[in-house]
Amino acid sequence: MGKEKVTELFGSMVFNESVMKQRLSTTCYQAWKKCVDEGTPLSLETAHEMAAEMKNWAMDRGATHFTHWFQPMTGVTAEKHDSFITPENPSQVLMGFSGKELVRGEPDASSFPSGGLRATFEARGYTAWDPTSFAFIKDGSLCIPTIFCSYSGQALDKKTPLLRSQEELSRQAVRVLRLFGDTDVKKVISQVGPEQEYFLIDKDVYNQREDLILTGRTLFGAKPPKGQELEDHYFGTIKPRVAAYMRELDEELWKLGILAKTKHNEVAPAQHELAPIYNDANTACDHNQLTMEIMKKVAGRHNMVCLLHEKPFAGVNGSGKHDNYSLSTDTGHNLFKPGSTPSQNARFLLFLAAFIKGADEYQDLLRCSVANPGNDHRLGAQEAPPAILSVFLGDELTAVVDSIIHGTSYVEQDSKSLAIGVDALPAIPQDTTDRNRTSPLAFTGNKFEFRMLGSSQSISGPNTALNTIMAEELGQFADILEGAEDFNAALHELVKKTLTDHQRIIFNGNGYEDSWVEEAKRRGLSNLTCTADALETYLQPKHIELFRKHGVFTAEELTARNEIHLENYCQVIGIEARTMIDMVRRSIFPAVSRFSGATASGVAAKKAVLADLDCSDEENLLRKLSALSAEMMRQTALLEDALSAPAGKDAYEAAHYYRYVVFEIMGRLRSAVDELETITAREDWPYPSYTDLLFSVK
Ligand code: ADP
Ligand code: MG
Repeated sequence: MGKEKVTELFGSMVFNESVMKQRLSTTCYQAWKKCVDEGTPLSLETAHEMAAEMKNWAMDRGATHFTHWFQPMTGVTAEKHDSFITPENPSQVLMGFSGKELVRGEPDASSFPSGGLRATFEARGYTAWDPTSFAFIKDGSLCIPTIFCSYSGQALDKKTPLLRSQEELSRQAVRVLRLFGDTDVKKVISQVGPEQEYFLIDKDVYNQREDLILTGRTLFGAKPPKGQELEDHYFGTIKPRVAAYMRELDEELWKLGILAKTKHNEVAPAQHELAPIYNDANTACDHNQLTMEIMKKVAGRHNMVCLLHEKPFAGVNGSGKHDNYSLSTDTGHNLFKPGSTPSQNARFLLFLAAFIKGADEYQDLLRCSVANPGNDHRLGAQEAPPAILSVFLGDELTAVVDSIIHGTSYVEQDSKSLAIGVDALPAIPQDTTDRNRTSPLAFTGNKFEFRMLGSSQSISGPNTALNTIMAEELGQFADILEGAEDFNAALHELVKKTLTDHQRIIFNGNGYEDSWVEEAKRRGLSNLTCTADALETYLQPKHIELFRKHGVFTAEELTARNEIHLENYCQVIGIEARTMIDMVRRSIFPAVSRFSGATASGVAAKKAVLADLDCSDEENLLRKLSALSAEMMRQTALLEDALSAPAGKDAYEAAHYYRYVVFEIMGRLRSAVDELETITAREDWPYPSYTDLLFSVK
């Protein structure tokens, strides 16, 4: 594609700032700008003009409908489409879309998960436009990004808390910046670049796998002769069919103003990655939701299926999402960027200290923010990152931190130790050598990369947590420093004390190793290996207080969310278990039985001709088939029993029951079935093998 075409394409389906500037009256445009920059509410008049222009613009581009586009707790986005047609009088319809429809919609949303927040009488939540996120056209509909709340204003979605956390983070960060004499900054914004991993497989093969269709992952499947051992897929040449997909995907994303930038093959066969250029967290979140949706849609056009599940295949790497996170001022400074002057470095070290303190104090909360049933197969299992939270700083920065803690010199020739805010730090080079890929929270030069996110999850939760934690720590720092007589001395003391108190969270080693689990235990770090265990810590008073204090969640909202997560966890495992039972009873058992029968008939036929013929291979096979089949049916029956037994007296007990009873039986059932697959004739096995799946896209 030519350069012209890309420029023309980019953002062509977005009602963005330049479109607004062009199409709206100056008053209307400025009212919107003020609303975004300063949070002043939009008047209905402005909303009317905005709506009218949005509609005209959308209709010029072929749109016939509009929808409030929102992010309920299901984790995917939701839409309710209305046409622009409004009955003006009985004989005439007019293409209309009012300011009221722009700023407030009322979807019949009684079946979205609310964790008990909405009583039945007020089952209809309402949606309200988020003017900080641009409207766009998708499939002939004008989509208006909205928040989704109950009538009493409780958040029922993933966007509302993120916006609340952004505001609070900004407020506390600005307080800190003022202390450094910065009077220009009005706002601090978290910037996020989510790297998205995914698998692509052929649709025809996919359609033969009941487990993939119903649960997004393979519940059975023997290890293929070739997996990811050779690492020949990572950054390898992209196959033409995949390349065509990526090209079209890029174009679709560009139209929506999504800055899709890098794309490459990942470690596992059939695994790929897409990274956008970073954006403010709210936009990044909207864009990532859209990206996931469009990835799936475009795959369909290429007769492929895009799998976003965290662990579609056992034995090869799962998929995550790396959440690159930094803080920037509205004046364009990245607060996680080590600077070249004493003051810039002091500021950097203070923000770094806040992050380290926050990561240490809220390990459990961060762990909860990435807990979901799919991610349980990655975190705490055999792959990176581990379930233990730690921060990787790299050698250079660790040396700086050590010198601050111990009051020793950072540069050897220089005998004096570093006075924060007085001395300039030696330049801290961007760490390009050691990319420590096992760390859950890695400092990568001017940002932190939070690597524990699951590939299918919304990035809203983790960023809401990061923002709120940063707001809390920065607020505490501001409280201390605002009262200080000697700012530099207090700053030095604060950074030193904070780093000293929280150094246990810093770990530059290999997070894969068992020795780290031991070491982390010695350091008193949490190791919550599954969602059921993680969520037990979610509602601890410290977390409730954190969110309450910063106006991100009320205790009631947090409790509701916890309920939704626990319920979802049990439901997902339950569906997987029932899918396994169905596959075994209706396909695998009959297939194994047929194959055994055919083998037995073969032996009988042979012996009928020559009674003393050696059929020991067949006989051994028959014995093995029969033993494994018996084990398979025994585990299936156990699983059925487990599913019909009561799961526990409350949601926590239920989650534990699903994890430690149901899920364990599923594991044993899978072992038996996978072994059967390796000894059953290929043509008799009812499902495509791992080889068929992983190497399906030629
Ligand atoms: P790496 O190769 O180190 O992972 P990249 O430059 O490829 O780094 O960036 C990975 C992701 O991080 C991209 O989405 C990118 O836009 C994002 N990113 C880069 N700088 C920042 C930043 N300052 N804040 C947030 N995200 C960033
Ligand atoms: Mg990266």
